[in-house]
Amino acid sequence: MNRMFKLAAWMLGVVLMIQGMSLGQTTRPIPQIKRALIISVDGLRPDLLLRANTPNMHGLFAEGCFSFWARTTEMSVTLPSHTSMLTGVTPATHGITFNDDGPAEQVYPKVPTLFECAKKAGYTTGLVATKSKFSALAKGVDWVNVPPRVPPEKVFEDEAAAEMAVKMIAEHTPQVMFVHFGGVDVVGHAVGWGTPQQITAIEKADGCVGRVLGAIKAQHLEDSTFIILTADHGGTGKWHGPDDPRARHIPWIAMGPGIRKNLDLTTFRELTINTEDTFATTCWLLNIPLPAKTDGKAVMVIAQDAQIQLMHDTATQGMKARSAPQ
Ligand SMILES: [Zn+2]
Repeated sequence: MNRMFKLAAWMLGVVLMIQGMSLGQTTRPIPQIKRALIISVDGLRPDLLLRANTPNMHGLFAEGCFSFWARTTEMSVTLPSHTSMLTGVTPATHGITFNDDGPAEQVYPKVPTLFECAKKAGYTTGLVATKSKFSALAKGVDWVNVPPRVPPEKVFEDEAAAEMAVKMIAEHTPQVMFVHFGGVDVVGHAVGWGTPQQITAIEKADGCVGRVLGAIKAQHLEDSTFIILTADHGGTGKWHGPDDPRARHIPWIAMGPGIRKNLDLTTFRELTINTEDTFATTCWLLNIPLPAKTDGKAVMVIAQDAQIQLMHDTATQGMKARSAPQ
């Protein structure tokens, strides 16, 4: 009897283990999250976001996790940084080190983008961007709105891009979508970072963010959408570039179902958020396999689930040990 009981318990254990393995491979860590929306406000320096009247962006971080000390690439320029955000690797690896429309023949990153990885995992994809150089990231995307790549570089107004994004969400509801607003950067280069004119541009961009969020709500997708609001770089004077903390720091705001609310991620001393983490965190939440060579990490501590947070804590133990004061 005792032997039979042991055998039955062993068999049950094997069945549970197999089930667990297949569950681990097929389920998302936060089951409610079935889609992702990444919004990038070009050149949005964190302190200016906080200084401007930005009810939509303030609403996102009150309802989510945030850091105003996240970091973009060392280069701190638009196309290389956005490519890192959407491929999870540094410019040295993805190879997009130019910041214009590029050579006459279209050049793409040397590694798969979030759109390509998502597509492979069975998701539909959408891209709306206000600068023509974003065509470098458009390979294989289901629905694309990027200005035509005809010299000189072309741009869309933020309001026009917001309208295109709203229409794309209403008509196609892409499951992995990226929206870029360039107006804040354009005013930064023309008049300067931190000027009253740029604050006005940030407030306009906030209105555009609100329109896109409204489109998600109108389609009743807010209970299944993970949202990241971030930027590609900040700036100072009429410039942004390497080795300047005013260019290197970006906001990183994450919210959605099952994501912790009103949590400042700088409370975790060992945690530094890099722009490559946007890619890795989105892949993790949507159960999209990460390419072998990924510099970004999933920021698991944003999950409400205590078990997932524990995984994050274990993963960062090594970092903690290395960063301890000597
Ligand atoms: Zn930029």
